[in-house]
Amino acid sequence: MFFHEKTYDIDELAKWNLHIHTTFSGCAKPEMKARDIVKTADEAGLEIIALTDHNYPKKKNAVAPQKLELEKQLEGFEHRVKVLIGAELSSYGINKFADDIETDNALDYRLYTTNHYHQGYWEHPEIITPRAYAEHMLAIMDKVIDSGRADCFAHPFMAGYIHAFDDSHDVTRAFKDNEIGDVMEKANKHEIAWELNVPAVFKDPVFFHRYFQIGKEVGVVFNMGSDAHLLCNVNTKQFAEEFKKILY
Ligand SMILES: [Zn+2]
Ligand SMILES: [Zn+2]
Repeated sequence: MFFHEKTYDIDELAKWNLHIHTTFSGCAKPEMKARDIVKTADEAGLEIIALTDHNYPKKKNAVAPQKLELEKQLEGFEHRVKVLIGAELSSYGINKFADDIETDNALDYRLYTTNHYHQGYWEHPEIITPRAYAEHMLAIMDKVIDSGRADCFAHPFMAGYIHAFDDSHDVTRAFKDNEIGDVMEKANKHEIAWELNVPAVFKDPVFFHRYFQIGKEVGVVFNMGSDAHLLCNVNTKQFAEEFKKILY
């Protein structure tokens, strides 16, 4: 589902940070405790945040007890910011999901990643070309939309985790405008938003300028997320000016 009105105003989008890792993610720093994240978001004047830890096929459905634990940690802790307890979920191949659908649907926010190709369990296309990776990602996204499991795509189209090529941007260049538009349109009908992921946008500004412009044309909902693994990255507003230069 959508969590806010459609807007292409970066200052509005930056009041949200719908991609934050807590200590439940092995990659997050020990300072990423739920209360400290919420306190940091409050100090920054954010309106809504989402806690989105990773899930893994070998730890099936672990995000369910984690959600209860995070709720417990925040119990009785006063704050203004609205907190969604979700997860960064994995579709690690075409129609491959790490958790049961009931587990996904019990989360406040289902952020779906389709391109963690650096993980050992992730499926790769049969032939290793930039175009084959582009087609593979599109096929994964298509099945995620059909599954009804997602509220948003995490760093969609991003190729930073594909290490097969000298320049991973060859993969984002292999997506055609109409393919991006078509999958965005389909997701829109299913109320799935598209992430403006801070590290992804900064690493591939040419592609994400194109992505933002196509999304605007299609009329999608964008959600901003800093993919914070450190408290200093919780405040999305600090990235707004740089985002305007890249995306507008
Ligand atoms: Zn990710
Ligand atoms: Zn993440």
